[in-house]
Amino acid sequence: MTTRPALLDLGHDVGDPRRDWVLSAEGNISSRSDERHMIIKASGCSMQSMTDDDLLVVDRLAILGLLDMRAVTDETIAQAYRDAVAPTGAATRMPSVEAILHAVIYAESDASVIAHTHPTAVNALLCSTAAHLIVEGALFPDQIVVLGRRQLLIPYTDPGVPLAAAVRGALRDFIGAHGTRPRAVYLANHGLFALADSTDDAVRITAMAVKAAQILLGALAAGGPVFLSDEHADRIEGRPDEHYRRDRLADDSGRN
Ligand SMILES: [Zn+2]
Repeated sequence: MTTRPALLDLGHDVGDPRRDWVLSAEGNISSRSDERHMIIKASGCSMQSMTDDDLLVVDRLAILGLLDMRAVTDETIAQAYRDAVAPTGAATRMPSVEAILHAVIYAESDASVIAHTHPTAVNALLCSTAAHLIVEGALFPDQIVVLGRRQLLIPYTDPGVPLAAAVRGALRDFIGAHGTRPRAVYLANHGLFALADSTDDAVRITAMAVKAAQILLGALAAGGPVFLSDEHADRIEGRPDEHYRRDRLADDSGRN
């Protein structure tokens, strides 16, 4: 279980401007806290400077109900978000506008921690005609070790309930086809969701997605990417020594 201090550390880490993953109030983080709740960043605060007061406990099952309503208005959504936040004694804060997307990911997958960022290198690709190449294949072995064999790309969708509905459908298809969750979900013209097992894992996934994007941008500039063959990529994913490396990386995650 991820503690509030660990989640706060994650916010400060991914919000560090030197990483170039988010600016000001961009992005958000959350963790699964029990079978019904998640802890998520409040709307409008910066991850770099957030404090414990900016972490809200949200009833994620309650806001998922928005997906089953017809013609949801902005006011209905705002009221559902207000009702889903556990009272803190302080003035009522609103969770991130993408709280429903976090709730969908926890409902559909076994992720325990989510980090959503807008890294410049990733968005350079996601805002280009080459966006589809980000999930076309693997370019180098460590990309597979950290991000897995396949990732998910969602076409641009209106943020909030429509985007959450699109991701829900795509996650069901992905997990149905591959038997495992994607560790990186890319949103075209928007950003990256890291679907992680721990706070350290969320940083590792985000950093590797950024590195893969930088390499792909460089490969495009150098004449075009050469993806690993299916045979080689499957071999990396199935190799016992690569599983060992992945497990060692997970064991090194001391913060959770
Ligand atoms: Zn975003």
